[in-house]
Amino acid sequence: MSSAPPLLDRPDVTSYPGGEALYRLRHSAAHVLATAVIDLFPDVKVAGGPPVENGFYYDFSRATPFTPEDLEKIEARMREIVAEKQPFEYRETTREEAQKFFEAAGEKYKLHFLSVIPPDSQVTFYTNGRFVDLCRGPHVVDTGGIGAFKVTHVAGAYWLGHERNEMLQRIYGTAFPTQADLDEYLKRVEEALKRDHRKLGRELDLFSVHEEIGPGLILWHPKGGMVRHQMETFWKEEHLKRGYHFVYTPHIASEKLYEISGHLQNYADIMYAPMDVDGQPYRPKPMNCPGHILIYQSKKHSYRELPLRYAELGTVYRYERSGVLHGMERVRGFTQDDSHIFCTREQLADEIAGILDLMDTLLQKFGYEYTCYLATRPKEKYLGTEEEWSFATHALKEALERRGLPYEIDEGGGAFYAPKIDVKLKDALGREWQCPTIQVDLNLPKRFGVVYTGSDGQEHEVVMLHRALLGSLERFMGIYIEHTGAEFPVWLAPVQVAVIPANPKAFDYAGDTAKMLREGGVRATVDLRDEKMGAKIRDAELEKIPYMLVVGPREADAGTVSPRRKGVGQLEVMPREAFMARVQQESRDRSA
Ligand SMILES: [Zn+2]
Ligand SMILES: [Zn+2]
Repeated sequence: MSSAPPLLDRPDVTSYPGGEALYRLRHSAAHVLATAVIDLFPDVKVAGGPPVENGFYYDFSRATPFTPEDLEKIEARMREIVAEKQPFEYRETTREEAQKFFEAAGEKYKLHFLSVIPPDSQVTFYTNGRFVDLCRGPHVVDTGGIGAFKVTHVAGAYWLGHERNEMLQRIYGTAFPTQADLDEYLKRVEEALKRDHRKLGRELDLFSVHEEIGPGLILWHPKGGMVRHQMETFWKEEHLKRGYHFVYTPHIASEKLYEISGHLQNYADIMYAPMDVDGQPYRPKPMNCPGHILIYQSKKHSYRELPLRYAELGTVYRYERSGVLHGMERVRGFTQDDSHIFCTREQLADEIAGILDLMDTLLQKFGYEYTCYLATRPKEKYLGTEEEWSFATHALKEALERRGLPYEIDEGGGAFYAPKIDVKLKDALGREWQCPTIQVDLNLPKRFGVVYTGSDGQEHEVVMLHRALLGSLERFMGIYIEHTGAEFPVWLAPVQVAVIPANPKAFDYAGDTAKMLREGGVRATVDLRDEKMGAKIRDAELEKIPYMLVVGPREADAGTVSPRRKGVGQLEVMPREAFMARVQQESRDRSA
């Protein structure tokens, strides 16, 4: 079997999500797409087009941009090609013949792909209709076999993915074995669009990004700020229960610190340029670890003081290419829910088990299921001894097993300085997000000489753990907005209760009720605008406020409220004190 032309992002047939049959189907659909495009637009040059996760694409070079109407025409032409059942014909050819063929056709991109096929590999063509592709397959038998498909959109894509290269037009589509599969997929995509955190963030006034500040830097608005405040409070309470100490470290530090830590050598490409402070280069902080180590080292520690657990909601700055920035989910400044634990070898497995317990508490409260991956030593580049790696990996494994957490092994997936547990959350749309990570560090304790005095009176190297459980607050928030569709539970909702007077006669009672709730710690607003009640109810619904209290003269006379719970409906009429106690309880227990 020959090796494939090196198309970017091209997944391997055998590892394709959905399996080989789906790969064939989508790969064939990509050829049908290209066939339709060259039929309709003879001026295009074709580049390449592999199956990708959830579909396929093909890249074209053409002076005029494809319009939505063009895409419709292309899809219609694809249906005709499917009806024609054009066979996919495989043919082995020679390099010279392929060269001549693509030169005659003026297909310079194909000539490039031909030039990078390894010398010992067979050059092969797949042909259907008028379309001849440099391709190793596999395909379905004929164009009738591509199942249910749809052309979805077009976007710019640099030739070979390099920003300095020319921009091609990438047409995306998707294909599934049956129409029902395709419909279900399209429904999921639509749902994901509705839940897009950038869209909901704007509509609900949660956060924004401004060119004036710079891309990838998040401004949290009051409502997003309230959600974050509640998340942080929960996070802090759970840490205090588990014997963590909170620390705070500066946002910039002398470059010397990052020389010692090795960040300057190993992570230079993600660190921002130095600034001059009294002739010394300083850098924005890319990681919190060195600061925590210095706190530990500010005095001597005996084994009796260990373990020591430092935690910080630490804001760090890392460079990301502008092309990959994405709302809150991929940013240049973010706050990690970071912690570093200093312990002895004997304490390591217990500490990891404790972290897993804390992680479970946090993730359950946010309504996530999750999967654990144990990432082991990389094959080539790594620090530390065989013994250290096996000890640390074993401790991670033991802690997972002790908690009865199923896990998969990610062979060779560890950092060069540490084995780790990576955890992926599963969101309401079935998508996976890597957030928590727990690493045993075999590097920094050596670089900084982090020690404790043992019971033998000698100095020993500490074992150090890094861990972040939400990951970063920005990314976690973005993912959580999409997980919930911004239907925040009562304990997190920026506004918990909207009091709505049924008519102006109830304004006083409504205002008084909201005031009472606020004094009781409930986040309540009252809508005293000169608007119809129906409009006020609609607005409160659009704001996704969990409770609505419509009050009229009858409620005012009786001192009651008749609450409406979003997603549930009308609750029974109750004294307003009873309603307040209910919301207080739900907030305290974080139960709703
Ligand atoms: Zn192909
Ligand atoms: Zn760290």
